[in-house]
Amino acid sequence: MTDILLIPLEADRDLSLDEFAADLGQVLAARVTVGALPVPIREAYDASRRQYHSGRILQMLLDTAPPGKTKLLGVTSHDLFLPVLTYIFGQAQLAARACIFSSFRLRNDLYGLAPSSHLLRRRSFKEALHELGHTYGLRHCADEPCVMNASTYVEDIDIKPAEFCASCSPVIHRAEF
Ligand SMILES: [Zn+2]
Ligand SMILES: [Zn+2]
Repeated sequence: MTDILLIPLEADRDLSLDEFAADLGQVLAARVTVGALPVPIREAYDASRRQYHSGRILQMLLDTAPPGKTKLLGVTSHDLFLPVLTYIFGQAQLAARACIFSSFRLRNDLYGLAPSSHLLRRRSFKEALHELGHTYGLRHCADEPCVMNASTYVEDIDIKPAEFCASCSPVIHRAEF
């Protein structure tokens, strides 16, 4: 069975992480626990962009976690970027351990809409599944409605389902770790 450690990195208080972990565990048939790691995420802050360098945080997760096969999912409320991109919702290592997502651009208030903790949780759940899907070796899926569909805008996240399609799902469920 796959083990996943959900690591709050100044995560949004509106996300109840224990509940979130239980829901992830159900869809992925994995053991998901919430645990703190001393990740110095301030060091990933880029003052000129006012954003956090996602790749640096992934590296910090790997450097801080005990060795092993447990997958690492960082959850942060900070806006993430990679040098070539304006922003990203999340990032993952393909077929490897570490991934992260940010709730920063998943909040309705960022777009001048009424806050909705329901939407925030729903979008966050999809992003967590999506990034974890990459760590299982899944690439973007374009053929079917699937949580592995690529998302550029928050609307793209709202459109896709919170589940893996018939071609992606076996990759998750056949995983050995
Ligand atoms: Zn992706
Ligand atoms: Zn798919």
